[in-house]
Amino acid sequence: MKFIKEGNKEKGCILCNLLDQEDGVQNLILHRAAHCYVVMNKYPYNTGHLMIVPKEHAANMTDFSAEVMGEMMTLAQLYNLVIESPAILFK
Ligand SMILES: [Zn+2]
Repeated sequence: MKFIKEGNKEKGCILCNLLDQEDGVQNLILHRAAHCYVVMNKYPYNTGHLMIVPKEHAANMTDFSAEVMGEMMTLAQLYNLVIESPAILFK
């Protein structure tokens, strides 16, 4: 695949760079919460492949506070429901 062979030409952290962009189709960000954001994977492994990304840059998830980790899991639970039953967005 082209994106694997050519690699990432973007400078800096692609996930932090996304956070600085305005919401829209170009960045695929679905939700911004206090500590994390939810983004559709540009190169999905399967339908509905989302990523929940902490706004704080870190090399290891052990660097995140319990508050950040809690929000990440809450968003994972919420978007799992959304993927299973998209109609809940309209209730
Ligand atoms: Zn980053």
